[in-house]
Amino acid sequence: MPSLIDLTVNALSLMPTPIMRHFSKKYIAGETIEQALDCLAALNAAGHTGIIDILGEDAEGEAGAREALAEYQSCSTKLAASKHDAYVSAKPTHFGLRTSEELCFELYSALASHCKGLGQFLRVEMEDHTTTDATLRIFKRLHAIHANVGLVLQARLFRNEADIRDLLETLPDGRTLNIRLVKGIYLEPGEIAHRDYAPIADAFVEQARLLFAGGATVSLATHDDVMAQRLFEVVEELGVEEERYEMQVLMGVQVGLWAKWMAAGRPVRVYVPFGPEWKAYSLRRLRKNPRLLRQVMLATFRK
Ligand SMILES: Cc1cc2nc3c(=O)[nH]c(=O)nc-3n(C[C@H](O)[C@H](O)[C@H](O)COP(=O)(O)OP(=O)(O)OC[C@H]3O[C@@H](n4cnc5c(N)ncnc54)[C@H](O)[C@@H]3O)c2cc1C
Repeated sequence: MPSLIDLTVNALSLMPTPIMRHFSKKYIAGETIEQALDCLAALNAAGHTGIIDILGEDAEGEAGAREALAEYQSCSTKLAASKHDAYVSAKPTHFGLRTSEELCFELYSALASHCKGLGQFLRVEMEDHTTTDATLRIFKRLHAIHANVGLVLQARLFRNEADIRDLLETLPDGRTLNIRLVKGIYLEPGEIAHRDYAPIADAFVEQARLLFAGGATVSLATHDDVMAQRLFEVVEELGVEEERYEMQVLMGVQVGLWAKWMAAGRPVRVYVPFGPEWKAYSLRRLRKNPRLLRQVMLATFRK
């Protein structure tokens, strides 16, 4: 029997596209790179750096994954030409991870080379737990070849602390780690991940400490100000240099916090997603984590 969440998401999927677009435009830059660049221009003018993400996951076979690479290469080239201060971030299943790990590595490696030529950084994102081992293997291989790549790690996973220790212990010569630490957007099973607020926040703070102590550069990606204040205490306590951390936020989310953090001298980088896949992507995300649905509904009713 379908759950209430399924029924609600299905109802949302029947909503006319222009209405759904209206509600999503706060969170998604648009369908084209030009719209994303306009958003970045405004963000840069307000003192924020950015991240560009082309919406999409679970590419359709090898052809779909290669198409995603071509889109990312074109996006990086246009981003470099615009001179906006931002880098690109891509999901493993968008680059064919579910088709072949080797293909996914090949495509990330091609994009990393392309970005290197443009003086850009590339972030490998992290998806649900079924992809964690393969993503870590791909990242390690990439990192051994390319200096301009970083990874996302999810604090809610029980395994995350051990993964951090392993990454720190097996660093290729001359490399340092660049990690975006997140709580983790996927509601994972209780056997492998924390599900409540307090243990997730505690794990996040301890894992940030471990990364900083290990010399990593860390993007603290959260909108949780209570947790952020604890993270700032860790930064002060360990004397973390300014260039070794920043806050990262999602476009349109808790905008008031960004100004507060910036005023306190904490730089805030904003994640700007765009692409024709915005509707399917938003609906899939809502299905995977019903808490997001609650936030969308609250935002909708506030309007
Ligand atoms: C730039 C960026 C990139 C990301 N990339 C990825 C990625 O690659 N992979 C991935 O899995 N995820 C990613 N995420 C999403 C991330 O994992 C989180 O799902 C998302 O950021 C929401 O968590 P949060 O830390 O912002 O805070 P939330 O947990 O949403 O909390 C927000 C607010 O609610 C309060 N709060 C919530 N619950 C409680 C409670 N029970 N008690 C008290 N207070 C509470 C908090 O204090 C805070 O004020 C990314 C996020 C960002 C910002």
